[in-house]
Amino acid sequence: MMKHTILLMSLLLLGASSAMAQKSRQEARQPSPAELVNPLMGTDSKGELSNGNTYPAIALPWGMNFWMPQTGRMGDGWAYTYDADKIRGFKQTHQPSPWINDYGQFALMPVVGMKIDQQSRASWFSHKTEVAHPYYYKVYLADHDVVAELAPTERCAYFRFTMPRTDSAIIVIDAFDRGSRVTLEQGGRRVTGYTTRNSGGVPANFKNYFVIEFDRAPAFQSVWENGQRRPGNDLSANHAGAIVGFRTSAGEVIHARVASSFISLEQAERNLQQEVGARSFDQITSQARARWDDVLGRVEVAGPERSRATFYSCLYRAVLFPRTFHEQDADGNPVHYSPYNGEVLPGYLFTDTGFWDTFRCLFPLLNLVYPSMNAQMQAGLLNTYKESGFLPEWASPGHRGCMIGNNSASVVTDAIIKGVTDPAIANDLYQAMLKGANNVHPRVSSTGRAGFAEYNRLGYVPYDIGINESAARTLEYAYDDWCISRAGRQLGRPAEEIALYEGRGQNYRNVFDLETRLMRGRNRDGSSQSPFNPFKWGDAFTEGNSWHYTWSVFHDPRGLAGLMGGRERFTAMLDSVFRLPPVFDASYYGGVIHEIREMQIMNMGNYAHGNQPIQHMIYLYNYSGAPWKAQFWAREAMDKLYQPTPDGYCGDEDNGQTSAWYVFSAIGFYPVCPGSTQYVIGSPLFDAVTVHLENGKTIKITAEENTPDNRYIQSLRVNGKSYSKNYLEHFDLLKGADLRFRMGAQPATSRGVGEDDAPYSFTH
Ligand code: CA
Repeated sequence: MMKHTILLMSLLLLGASSAMAQKSRQEARQPSPAELVNPLMGTDSKGELSNGNTYPAIALPWGMNFWMPQTGRMGDGWAYTYDADKIRGFKQTHQPSPWINDYGQFALMPVVGMKIDQQSRASWFSHKTEVAHPYYYKVYLADHDVVAELAPTERCAYFRFTMPRTDSAIIVIDAFDRGSRVTLEQGGRRVTGYTTRNSGGVPANFKNYFVIEFDRAPAFQSVWENGQRRPGNDLSANHAGAIVGFRTSAGEVIHARVASSFISLEQAERNLQQEVGARSFDQITSQARARWDDVLGRVEVAGPERSRATFYSCLYRAVLFPRTFHEQDADGNPVHYSPYNGEVLPGYLFTDTGFWDTFRCLFPLLNLVYPSMNAQMQAGLLNTYKESGFLPEWASPGHRGCMIGNNSASVVTDAIIKGVTDPAIANDLYQAMLKGANNVHPRVSSTGRAGFAEYNRLGYVPYDIGINESAARTLEYAYDDWCISRAGRQLGRPAEEIALYEGRGQNYRNVFDLETRLMRGRNRDGSSQSPFNPFKWGDAFTEGNSWHYTWSVFHDPRGLAGLMGGRERFTAMLDSVFRLPPVFDASYYGGVIHEIREMQIMNMGNYAHGNQPIQHMIYLYNYSGAPWKAQFWAREAMDKLYQPTPDGYCGDEDNGQTSAWYVFSAIGFYPVCPGSTQYVIGSPLFDAVTVHLENGKTIKITAEENTPDNRYIQSLRVNGKSYSKNYLEHFDLLKGADLRFRMGAQPATSRGVGEDDAPYSFTH
């Protein structure tokens, strides 16, 4: 009896202790970086108001193909909107932005009954049944009583559809309109085809070839055209598709493995074998999750879970674009279809980014944390130059006419200066920069430099010669010229060439207006643009006004301060941006563009963080002896303008740029001037950050006494030594660094105020 009692008690204790251990394990287990990502951040958007204009990209970092639940109609750039009721399909997408739209897209949709076209097959869904991770997506399609799941690889997807009991469980394959083809093979167990749909920027032979393999032979199958079934197993049409049908019992699972290629059907099959092969759905899911945890985990942050969720949701967006466009041949070497000349060529290629947005801090983030990726991207840029004669400015997948500037010079220079670019190709990339600085693409005027001849002759793009946004162009060309001079210096170019571009780097002075102390358009005869309203968006500027664009002197804030009348005046002008009411003149656009509305509603005056031109401005206080103001506003922008929610951004996210701003700012510093080697200090958001660099070193950042109110730096020790400068050096960080901030609720107004504490300016 005693023996039995003891045994029973031990069993009970054993059970209790193992349950307790399990419970404490669950409590102790923090969500991983990939689990913290909310891919729905920014999806509650519309044309008139962008809270991000993102879609849930179910993909791998920099993956060639992304996958998404599609709520919008075929061709609608707002392809997934949080307020939508119905899903029409699961789309392979390459869309960088709703304004640029998609290419090479096709979709699958599980349905019950013969519901083929995008209207009849659409199903009600609820976000309460939706599970969205970068590495896995699941949703309940109510009208069909189907659970759809998907997991990505770089170029493939694995689908799992859980069906109800029916004799008509159908997978609709939609190759979209404007020229597509489907072929049913092996009795419908395999479906191949292509889509040609695109939004421009491709040669006439552009195709995205796909192969879809089911885990069993269907009971029936058919091709269709414009939603109507057609006889035969092969159809080329304006809008082709296929159905494969199964008889299923309740809860029966159908798997589909999907791959595609821009090169050929044979390559699509190779991609499927290389990336999926015999792996199971669960293996693909856990592989994708491990990949995300590896990439996101390069930056470890400690702090409140909500801030960590925002941080990793932003870091996720920062490592999606530019996407891989090359594939791997039979020997594992990179090969790509050229969206520039239509040929299949060896080597890397990346696409779907606009440098006007992403030169600012997305590429600097890659250079610090993921340099081996940017080394491949730089090789891809040289391929773009070889295949098209120009570096890209906005690529999707080929050159697209969008935005202004010649900021490929910044992207190329920053990678050369920081030692990321393969030295063997640096000189060729430099030649590509010179070409772009002194030419304009014959068909795509935003590639190269529109107005280069006048700019080179006069030192500015005149306001009155029919080239729009002329002052903005002048400012960006001047910065780009400074970049070229830096790369030229690094590469040992002739002194007169370096001097030429350094001199042109000062051209920002030519559009500075002494009367208003702001940038202003200038006519060919040297007179100022008149009338002039510094609150007018567009016109001489690009998606911003003079108050926003005046700060686009990344390489010479001290020179700009001199023009304004000194440091104090410069600081007061920065203050004014926040103090001014959110007044605007939208007449150039004939209506309020969404970027204007996003400024107006934030209660931050004329500060317009929802668009890129001003995103470095907060950090400029570090150049004029008022670093605590940068600390205040950096925290203000982080706390107020970013949330891990569907309405979580304050404007277009734009291919990682607006996200990378948060990533840098939360770490505690920001690359105001790509092409220099400095990061300008802000206010670290987290108690502790560890950056695991690719060279094996770590950057440790600790913020003692850090709270939401304690946003001001009281002191900083770098590797144990007191440090008063307002910037950090890239190559110092690469050696591994220990940064210890002490934070407080009051500004330390005597710290970082010396002339020597200010970051780099060309004008000393
Ligand atoms: Ca933008």
